[in-house]
Amino acid sequence: MADSVCEETSNESQPAENAVSDEQLSTELPTEGIDPQRLPRPEETQPLRVMWEYVAVLSSVHVVALLAFLPWTFSWLFTWSGVAFAILGHFVFGMMGVTIGYHRLLTHRGFTAPKWLEHTLATLGMCNLQDSPARWVAIHRMHHQHSDHQPDPHSPLVSFLWGHMGWVVCRHKDLDRTSHYERYVRDLLRDPFYLKLERRGGWFFVFLGHSILITTVGAIVGYFAAGEPLRYAASWTVWAVAVRTVFVLHGTWAVNSLSHVFGYRNYKTRDESTNNWLVALWSHGEGWHNNHHAEPRAAAHGHKWWEFDMSWRIIQFMEMIGLAKNVVRPKAFKAPE
Ligand SMILES: [Zn+2]
Ligand SMILES: [Zn+2]
Repeated sequence: MADSVCEETSNESQPAENAVSDEQLSTELPTEGIDPQRLPRPEETQPLRVMWEYVAVLSSVHVVALLAFLPWTFSWLFTWSGVAFAILGHFVFGMMGVTIGYHRLLTHRGFTAPKWLEHTLATLGMCNLQDSPARWVAIHRMHHQHSDHQPDPHSPLVSFLWGHMGWVVCRHKDLDRTSHYERYVRDLLRDPFYLKLERRGGWFFVFLGHSILITTVGAIVGYFAAGEPLRYAASWTVWAVAVRTVFVLHGTWAVNSLSHVFGYRNYKTRDESTNNWLVALWSHGEGWHNNHHAEPRAAAHGHKWWEFDMSWRIIQFMEMIGLAKNVVRPKAFKAPE
């Protein structure tokens, strides 16, 4: 998944061993001649083996999220505070953790941040049930390196469902063990923080821990605000954990599926990536995906004035207060200042 398999953690000016230039990635292969029906599943996923632990966890969070909308559970589980924290969580965990942390910072090194902040953003990212930082980054760097060609792990040219979520629950031989994908993330794994999270599903306990914390805070708020600790604890679990997690998950997955099928293209990249406004709204700017494939390292994904990119605005703010440095701007278009 990497466009540019990125730079050293310790010294951003040094390219990593596997570095691939943006130009190479954008021009290596022609878009013409791709038959959308013809891309088979990556060889590394053959024979098909379902990872049932992923199916169980992802199904569970979907079922719990569904409770928020069922007629016979909706009113008991609905609290304004639960809904408010779900929306807040979409920004705090989804945008700060996945979009800004996992993607623009860790995968592409579109900017640099102090270690404490980098680790905080990575921790927020783990609260979205999207795997460890190293595995997420490895998958995404592999995607950029091979986008819509073998062995792209999640091209929707295999099938829309495969590109959206099928790939998540199927074993990929290059991505099943840290030792198999460490070549994509050597920069990250040099940091003991990320290395430790690879062991015994450490990242998953971060997700569980944050869920317990949110449930507990919900119970405390419910006790003092309404004398209903149980109902508030349940409401916060369903809304602020499950509904938010599912919404963020599908937003990220939609970047891989919708933004490689529907939308317009500013750049003639070697893949089928598109700019999709719905996905851009849903995932805080990630839907300007054709722009992103054209200039993967750029921290701004909206390249035209109407391509609003919330994450870029936050990175700009972080730069203004001195928390983001070495911010990479797009070359082809002047990103909105
Ligand atoms: Zn892509
Ligand atoms: Zn990317």
